[in-house]
Amino acid sequence: MSKLYDVIIIGAGPAGLSAGLYAGRARLNTLIIEKAREGGQIVNTADIANYPGSVEGESGASLIERMKNQAKQFGAETVYDTIIDAELSGEIKTIKGLADTYQAKTLILANGAQPALIGCPGEKEFTGRGVSYCATCDGAFFEDLEVYVVGGGDAAVEEAIFLTRYARKVTIIHRRNELRASKSIQEKAMENPKIEFMWDSVVKELSGEELLDTMIVENVKTGERREVKADAGDGMFGVFVFIGFKPQTQLYEGKLEMENHYILTDDNMRTGIPGVFAAGDIRAKSLRQVVTATADGAIAATQAEKYLAE
Ligand code: NAP
Repeated sequence: MSKLYDVIIIGAGPAGLSAGLYAGRARLNTLIIEKAREGGQIVNTADIANYPGSVEGESGASLIERMKNQAKQFGAETVYDTIIDAELSGEIKTIKGLADTYQAKTLILANGAQPALIGCPGEKEFTGRGVSYCATCDGAFFEDLEVYVVGGGDAAVEEAIFLTRYARKVTIIHRRNELRASKSIQEKAMENPKIEFMWDSVVKELSGEELLDTMIVENVKTGERREVKADAGDGMFGVFVFIGFKPQTQLYEGKLEMENHYILTDDNMRTGIPGVFAAGDIRAKSLRQVVTATADGAIAATQAEKYLAE
């Protein structure tokens, strides 16, 4: 520990990199701390079709590469370290990592959230090759194919309805025999002729050659297992998983105000602690997309600059 930064940004996903770009541009001494690799969830997306201005065929990884270079060009430094403790109160904020300790006058928390995983064999292997956690990002790839949606909450049922724009048939696989989703959303799904339900069922295994084409589903009441195969003409199907999200807020529990483990901020990304801002999927918000994450990052950095000036 030697340098006192103006701003430390935790997390190098779209929110953190956008904050880095804006903070660097404002000539703030800026450090981005990333655990492993830049990009967050979006690097798993093969084609970014809905980020304004993205070029055709743009992958999440290539978009992130450009964001990373842009932040660097404006002077933001990056270190790779796993944060184990964060001291948020006081004028100087102290961040402890496994490798080093870092200090700054302001913090932007942009650790993001991770979709909850089914945890079955094949799930990770086929992510981006049939398994998805984002209907808005990937739904269009399943034009006229069969799609399975795992989960029974608002997200699963709303996204299942959204996916009927593209898919030939959408089957909701839910572990109970009634949905958790609100009644109005349920009614819309029940009325939709493209939506079917597989009740009391859980996905046990996902497999295929190059692309996902086989799934083992177990009935939790009878224990019976059945194999679901893709139509020969399709060669694949989609599995969209919406069984909740896990915001990466463990470090801040008890220190910041939260709702369902998401950090509460005002419209200027300010948390309840002066000099501490939150941006991106880690915040309680209604739309978690790259475009909203980058907007959050820009606002947080601009507000950090204002806070430092005051
Ligand atoms: P959620 O409400 O927690 O629902 C998660 C669903 O996944 C539940 O049906 C749950 O089953 C199922 N599930 C959980 N773990 C599972 C596992 N390991 N295997 C299989 N199924 C599993 O999550 P969400 O739908 O993402 O919504 C999160 C919050 O955002 C909620 O408060 C929701 O109301 C809100 N939201 C609101 C809207 C809206 O109002 N338009 C849209 C999206 C989300 P059980 O039912 O059996 O527990």
